[in-house]
Amino acid sequence: MKITPAELREKVKGLYEVIPRETEVVKVLKEECNGCGKCADLCPVGVYEINEKKAEVVAIEFCQECGLCYHVCPVGAITFTYPEGGTGIVYKWA
Ligand code: SF4
Ligand code: SF4
Repeated sequence: MKITPAELREKVKGLYEVIPRETEVVKVLKEECNGCGKCADLCPVGVYEINEKKAEVVAIEFCQECGLCYHVCPVGAITFTYPEGGTGIVYKWA
């Protein structure tokens, strides 16, 4: 059974924290986006929505910095930049 982004968010809640980032980790180049929806379908935590046939970042606060969206976009319309050292997602391995 496929887990929804909302269910995954609930499951991982409390397992990590996000140190405020100055870096824009993911960004959509709207002029390149063809609206295929792969980023929205595959981002595990639902960061993207497709609006007016273009991808839009709607929930960056949940981004796990995995880079999947960058790799699956067929036209190179997503940029991915690691956050500055000491910022971004920190997992708790207790
Ligand atoms: S880096 Fe991963 S978690 Fe963040 S928006 Fe892309 S697919 Fe989603
Ligand atoms: S995968 Fe790329 S082309 Fe497809 S909707 Fe997302 S940003 Fe646009």
